[in-house]
Amino acid sequence: MYQAPRGTQDILPEEARYWRFVEEQARRWALRFGYGEIRTPTFEETSVFSRGVGAGTDIVEKEMYTFKDKGGDELTLRPEATAAVMRAYLEHGLHNRPQPARLYSLASIFRYDRPQAGRYREFHQFNVEAIGELDPLLDAEVVRLLWQFLAGLQLSGLSVQLNSIGCPQCRPGFLAELVRAYEQHLAAVCPDCQRRIRVNPMRMLDCKNAQCQPAIEAAPRTMDSLCSECAEHFQRVRTYLEAVEVPYQLNHRLVRGLDYYTKTVFEVWPAVAGSQASLGGGGRYDGLAEQLEGKPTPAVGFAAGLERIILNLKSQNLPVPALPGVEVFLAPLGEAARVAAFRLADDLRVRGVPSVTGAGERSLRAQLRHADTFGARWAFILGDAELATGEVTVRNLATSEQVREPRDRAVERVLEAREGRA
Ligand code: AMP
Repeated sequence: MYQAPRGTQDILPEEARYWRFVEEQARRWALRFGYGEIRTPTFEETSVFSRGVGAGTDIVEKEMYTFKDKGGDELTLRPEATAAVMRAYLEHGLHNRPQPARLYSLASIFRYDRPQAGRYREFHQFNVEAIGELDPLLDAEVVRLLWQFLAGLQLSGLSVQLNSIGCPQCRPGFLAELVRAYEQHLAAVCPDCQRRIRVNPMRMLDCKNAQCQPAIEAAPRTMDSLCSECAEHFQRVRTYLEAVEVPYQLNHRLVRGLDYYTKTVFEVWPAVAGSQASLGGGGRYDGLAEQLEGKPTPAVGFAAGLERIILNLKSQNLPVPALPGVEVFLAPLGEAARVAAFRLADDLRVRGVPSVTGAGERSLRAQLRHADTFGARWAFILGDAELATGEVTVRNLATSEQVREPRDRAVERVLEAREGRA
């Protein structure tokens, strides 16, 4: 039998309420912060990501779903949203509007990664970007938005990890110092870090291998070598975060996987942190627009992973609102009754009542069992006797009480009972 491709999952109706809840909360907070929705294509020209995200990153080196289409164009399923949103910002001249452009999206993301708990090849992100302004208020604003969104889901035990990784002015000095410090430990660190020291030395700092921990402990800290502009920016971000009481922890090992970050970087971790644990993360990326052949354009944003958030909602047993269910199950007996039931269900739906008609030739018992699996409140039974008088038998499925009455009256009964409950 066929199976969904490795690293992907089907979301069945019983899971839908988690998705709806998380997506609605994301939209609610984005709108409350004044962010407008943007939807970009599922795939882009490959160079949007190879140039935007940066060679030497895991995403570009190993994880992209890249293909040539039938016309010979090199395309890639988006392995992250930010570069695509920046491409859209530049293409549509959003810099001509009042700045910053505040944008959010909910999108599927594709990475050819090794699947495991909380790590998929297709997953979904809530993505937020404030583009076109260097103000540290915006760094704090997006952290606050992420925090409100997660706290609004009632998730507990979360922490904000915060760092600044400098800019093209101060980072080269830091990297030289980092490489010097690491050279003394080179024999002891893992093969990945022996390679990273050449291609992406910053990434040595978030290596999870035990043998690399002593070198990381001894390594210099980005925060200690920020230029005065980056240091002041970071101090102001902290002041804003403190003003709205976002509890953050400074974390000098937080460097993030993508090349385009400058200055502020952050992640939100659940209580039990691990390499696959981060619920969301982001930072400032003032260099990205130029990588995509745009004018220098400061920007800051984050992405939060919906699958991981839902895993945490479940492990913390948090309440998630039920979706509106079926209220009336129409059980026809015979073909003539089925036509009448089909019409009556239509009336109910037009008047706002979710209703389902029994399909297939089934006994009344079987149909009532089916009604129970929907959690329906009412069954409308239509047999020959009801057909002859234009009536319907209304069964209250909670109490098993039944009355036979004209169809209009039955619809009124359902509507009145709903109002009583509302
Ligand atoms: P990133 O784009 O790597 O900064 O990731 C942002 C967020 O997306 C992470 O904090 C995770 O919540 C989520 N995420 C990243 N990679 C995966 C993956 N392979 N599977 C599921 N969620 C992921």
